[in-house]
Parts: sequence; structure tokens; C-alpha cells
Amino acid sequence: MNTFPLFFKLDNRKVLIVGGGDVALRKADLLSRAGAAITIIAPSICDELHALLSDEKHTLIYENYNKKYMQGARVIIAGTDDEALNHQIHADATALNIPVNVVDTPHLCDFIFPAIVDRNPIVIGISSNGKTPVLARLLRARLETLIPQGYGKLAKLAGEFRSEVKNKIPTLTGRRQFWERAFEGKVSELIFAGNETEATAQLQKDLAETATKIANQHSDDTEVATNSAANLDNQDTDSDISNKGKNPVGEVYIVGAGPGDPELLTFKALRLMQQADIVFYDALVSPQVLDLCRRDADKVYVGKKRSNHAVAQLGINELLINEAKKGRRVVRLKGGDPFIFGRGGEEIESLRAHGVPYQVVPGITAANAAASYAGIPLTHRDHSQSVRFVTGFLKAGVPNEKFENLLDTNETVVFYMGLHSLERLTEGLIEAGRSSETPIAIVSNASMPNQQVLTGTLASIVERQEQAQLPTPALLIMGDVVALHHDLAWYNLHLQQHEQSLANTESNWLRGGTATTPKGQAKGQAVDQQAHALSMIATLSEAKEDSLEQLVIG
Ligand code: SAH
Repeated sequence: MNTFPLFFKLDNRKVLIVGGGDVALRKADLLSRAGAAITIIAPSICDELHALLSDEKHTLIYENYNKKYMQGARVIIAGTDDEALNHQIHADATALNIPVNVVDTPHLCDFIFPAIVDRNPIVIGISSNGKTPVLARLLRARLETLIPQGYGKLAKLAGEFRSEVKNKIPTLTGRRQFWERAFEGKVSELIFAGNETEATAQLQKDLAETATKIANQHSDDTEVATNSAANLDNQDTDSDISNKGKNPVGEVYIVGAGPGDPELLTFKALRLMQQADIVFYDALVSPQVLDLCRRDADKVYVGKKRSNHAVAQLGINELLINEAKKGRRVVRLKGGDPFIFGRGGEEIESLRAHGVPYQVVPGITAANAAASYAGIPLTHRDHSQSVRFVTGFLKAGVPNEKFENLLDTNETVVFYMGLHSLERLTEGLIEAGRSSETPIAIVSNASMPNQQVLTGTLASIVERQEQAQLPTPALLIMGDVVALHHDLAWYNLHLQQHEQSLANTESNWLRGGTATTPKGQAKGQAVDQQAHALSMIATLSEAKEDSLEQLVIG
């Protein structure tokens, strides 16, 4: 270690900063968060510093530097743009044995400002010892994503109970295990879900139960008492503790797994997936996402297909309830968002009826992913002022044919589960009065490396899809915004270029060798060619996907 990480108490202690500009401001901002009483010396001091340090415990001195102001300072920061002056400050501070930091000059620093992750009272400081602050900041960003915001509250709660726990649980091992259980179980989950009152009650309850058990098993022999407390706690760490009647109900997390790209998961989804005892997942959850679940968790496929219901909905509800009642942490992982054509609502109704606690974590729904990754804004001030998500099917496989609701030319319509009824949908829309020239896109495997987009109009899309055979899962996006795809597409362009060149080859062959270049063509022609190419290269990466669109998730 080149330097030693110490956590320095600065509350109401004097910190001297020489300089009144941006550099001083950044340091003053950090130091004031630790409660320091800051003295600034500079002939001119920026307004922001003035505002930040308005509390009377701070002192602003509008003067040139003078070493007399170092008196009583715990640390000194030199943040001027005058190199000679910075050297002078360093020399003066060193003579007085006061630690000094000359900003951005590592060899003139007795201490370093780390990159900070602040979950007060938990604080993490990261330093590269002046070698590469950017890398330290990147590391900080990674930690920020890994550590829930609620950690600070959890630590505060633990602090409040610390002495009580010490009194009631006599052994060190017993206390360690008690806290591990609290931090990895219900108490922390309640805190992270924003429910501090219940978390406190839960901690009190756990503590009372543990204390009672220790009292019951206590014997005159201290040695035996110590062991029994430890054993008791060891048992508690078993995942099936509930079988012993200790923790009767676990919890169910209905988690939106997003459209497939694991980077589109939320932090919360990832955290719950990593602490699951068992995961029930459906057909739309990508293998990459599933891989991020806790390695030791049981993973159970409950995908539903129209012809072959792996597990019927009622069965899924029962599985969730049974597992939770064993005290397990159950993750129900659903493609996209659980509350958009995901039956999340029905699942929690049944959990609620059985008194099983649950949380719902939203996910990025396929429409959002498809729109972003295909460069088709769902709304646009010039083209579309509202957006409607529609299912291609109603309950029990009945096609959704309320076309009269879908005639507004200023509205974008996204059809889920619509690919297999494409022909009926387009015909129905035209018959109901929608222009046959209305742009429509099929976005297949949105957000995945094999994403494909096919555009056309209500009149042309069926034929194009017959040629292209884009695989499921796929969404349909209808409305004027679809025309923007041509200019705004950004994802998988290399794949599209590849397809385009294949298209040229095929169309040349079809047309007996007439040379064409995509740029010189009318847009519709280019799309035609792309459709040919897609039909040539469309492959289904997994048989499973083939049958996806046939399922009525319902
Ligand atoms: N709850 C999910 C939707 C489930 S309904 C969500 O919020 O996204 C299933 C339908 O979603 C599929 O038939 C398909 O139309 C659509 N879908 C899901 N994932 C998709 C993806 N990656 N690309 C395109 N469409 C997708």
C-alpha cells in the first residue's frame, strides 16, 4: 500500500482551503458533507462557494493567502492556479506538521481525496494513489450500481440495535450469525423496499425469538450454552428453516426481466435474482438473463405455450405459494414488464389471497426495447401524440379485433403477440378504414444480437414477411413514426448492411444481373430486397423461439 486509507473525523473541525474557484468548490462540497468547518481564503470567491458555505460555522476571507490562517487547521487544501503559491502553501503546512493536499499535484499531497461511495454511515473510499483517478471513478460507478441505496438505512438500523443485540446474544458467533441473517434476509429486504417501520419490527421480533431460544437452552455450563447458541444459529442459516416452523413465510418477487439484453435489467431485479432460492421463469426470459440468477438457486421453467402449457397458470400460482410458504425467496422472472401482458396482476392476486408477501419489480417492456433498438420513437411531436399497447389475442386465444379503436393517425399502435395474426390484423385495419399506406414494422428479437426489423405498409407487410420470415418473439409497430426507422436505426447496422448486400446479390440474380445500388433505389425497392435477404438468412437460434409467438400468454 502506498497510502493507508483512514477515515478522518472532520465534523466542526477547521479545514483550510486556499482558492475561491471551481477547484475549491469541489473540495468544499465534499468536505462540508462530512461536517467540516471550512475556511476559504482567496481575493475573490465564486458565488457557488458563497452559497454552499453560508452557514455561520464557515469562514470566507477575501484576502491573499497568509500562513497565519493555517493556525488550528486539521487539514489544508491548496486549490489555486498559481504553482509557486501552491508550493509555498505546501511548504508552510509541512513546517507546521499539518497534512496538506495540493490539488492535482500528487507529489505535493500528504493525503488523497478518494472516489467516494456514500451510504452514510457506510462510506467507501477508492484511491489509485494518484496514478489513474479516472479508473478509480469507474470503479466507484460500478460499486454504486451494486450497492443498494438502502444500505445506509440498514446500517443505521443495525447501529441502533447494536447494544441490545450484544446484551441478548452472549456469543460473538451468535451475534455474527444473527446479523448475517438480518442483512441477507427479510430485514434488509424490507429496508430496501422502503419499509423501515416493518423492518424495525421484524428485527425486534427476530431478536426476541433468538433470545428466547438462547434462554430455553441455557444451562449452568457456560461452555454448553455457548455451543447451543452457535448451533441454534447454524440451523437458522439453513434455507429450509421454515420447515422447523421458524420463518413460516418467505417472499415472492415478481421480477421484470426485460426484453432479453441482460444490460436492460434494473439494479433491483439483479439484486433479487442474486438472492433467490428458487426461480420460476417463462419462455421469454433469455438464457443470458437467467445466467445472472444466483448459481445455487433452483431454476424451474414454467413457460406457457398455446398447444403445450408447461405449467398452467393455476399451477404456477400454486408453486409460488407453496415455495414461499416453505420460507424460500421465490423469484418469478417474466419477460419484459410483469404488468404488461404478463399476467403479473393475476399472480399477485393469488399471493395476496394466501397471505404471501410479494414485491413487483418493473422491467423494460418489449415495446420500449423494440422502439429504442429499431430507431422508431413511439411518440414524436410531428407524427404521434399518443401510443397504445394492444394484444393480438384476448383471453383463451380469441383474436383481438377491436379495429375501430385503432384508426387515429396521430397515435402509434404496438401489437404484442400479433405476428401470427398479421394478415388478419392488416386486413381488419384496412377494412375498418385505416389507410393501406400506413407504415408498419415488425421488430423481431428486440434488443438481442439477432434483432431484425422489417418495414412496410399495411398493404405490403404480409407479403414481405412471407418472404423474410422474421422469427418470434416479435412486435408490430404501426404509425407514421415507423418511417423514421430508415434514418434513425442504429442497432445491429452491421447485420443490416450484411443483409443489404445479400439483398443486392439475390435481386441481381433474380433480375438477371441488373446492377443496383441501395442508395440509388427508391425506399420501397430497398425494403423489398432486404426482405429477400432476410428470408435467405433468417434462422431460428432455438426451436423454443419458434413456438413463442404461438403462445398466448394467457
Ligand atoms: N410482459 C412482456 C410481454 C409478454 S407478451 C413485455 O412486457 O414485454 C409476449 C409478447 O411480447 C410476444 O409475443 C412478443 O410480441 C412480445 N415480445 C416479448 N419480448 C420480445 C422481444 N425481445 N422482441 C420482440 N417482441 C417481444
